[in-house]
Amino acid sequence: MPLTGKSTFRNTALAVWLLAVFGCLWVGCRKRELIEPTPGMEVSERLWMRVLLYEDLNRCTLSSNGGFNAIDAATWSKTDFGKKAGIVEVGFSADRIIVSGKQFGREVIIRPNKPFVVAVNGEHYRGNLRLTTKADGHLFDVTNEVPVEAYLAGVIGAEMPNYWEPEALKAQAIASRTYALFIKRKFGSGRRWDVRKTQANQVYSGVSAESATVWAAVNKTEGLVLTCKGDDGREEIFPAYFSSTCGGHTQNSRDVFGDSYDPLCGVECPYCRNVAKMSFYFWPMVDFDADGVSDRIIERYPKLSKLKAIEDIEPFKVADYGNFKRITSVRLFGKDGTSGYLRGEDLRLTIDPSGKKIRSAACGILKVNGKFRFYAGRGYGHGVGMCQCGAQAMARNGKSSEEILSYYYPGSRIMQD
Ligand SMILES: [Zn+2]
Repeated sequence: MPLTGKSTFRNTALAVWLLAVFGCLWVGCRKRELIEPTPGMEVSERLWMRVLLYEDLNRCTLSSNGGFNAIDAATWSKTDFGKKAGIVEVGFSADRIIVSGKQFGREVIIRPNKPFVVAVNGEHYRGNLRLTTKADGHLFDVTNEVPVEAYLAGVIGAEMPNYWEPEALKAQAIASRTYALFIKRKFGSGRRWDVRKTQANQVYSGVSAESATVWAAVNKTEGLVLTCKGDDGREEIFPAYFSSTCGGHTQNSRDVFGDSYDPLCGVECPYCRNVAKMSFYFWPMVDFDADGVSDRIIERYPKLSKLKAIEDIEPFKVADYGNFKRITSVRLFGKDGTSGYLRGEDLRLTIDPSGKKIRSAACGILKVNGKFRFYAGRGYGHGVGMCQCGAQAMARNGKSSEEILSYYYPGSRIMQD
């Protein structure tokens, strides 16, 4: 029987319905690929990260599908907020944290039940939360305490597209694990948290960044870190920095962060050009009002106030790799013959804290018509350590995560932490 218009419509409707059903099933399957309950909850404190999520809050909301316990850190008294608690309000009164109307002390631990996931302000994180009042008792911070491997699952998908090559994701997992543990061990003992969730360290977006590919990269590299020879000749971890797109050559860490490790000396990178967005590899010229630039720099660096106003900026030291140059420091010219100096990275991030306009220090600087012009820019980020777009290009060319890491961190070794 020939198809009538009506039956064609019915067929189309059926097709749409089938698509919707299978689409939901597919999404459902993908969700089921997520690991539950949160792995690593039983590992020692040495392998947990404390991530500062929020600072200076006066209220927030909490929720957890499995329910949670709120524990007063001073008295260890425990209050059970079961599955039916829904969204729980947290606030303050007279130096005390108030959870759903109940008074606690100045520090509260939130322990979710299985699958050990809790949402703060609607963002889901694995592990526990710790709410801590400030010394003045009027505001509180929220820290997420999470096993290192689960933390990494929330980092890799935020730092790299989860559809990138498995070997690139594995290289990212090893670099991120190394970096996190280095920062934790170097700075963690002197403060209540180990890392921030932002680019100030490495971006961590909790469960929303996770995927099956990301968990595969974390699990296949479990416990692996990069090391290099320390001053005493023993292998030790180092801050395995990485950035989006180096633009042609990675940078010596000494010139950006002031620390010196052999694997962070800088290498040529012919790879990222094949993967990076064109506007990241060659970024467009950008102008900033000269008076605004001067004010921002002097406000950020009070020692430069002797310059009164910055009238000109010139590259002072440049890392010259032939056809690729990156400004490592600039000379600032003030009034009455005064001058001062700043690192190239500090200059660009003071003028453009997001780093989205002046995308790297590999550029020219010119003063023109009352504006500072940043031109002929290349690359996105500080350029130290692994070039993420370069890692993806190498993985596409069949290189393993080990080959990628030994290229960008020359002389390093991969070891079990
Ligand atoms: Zn590169």
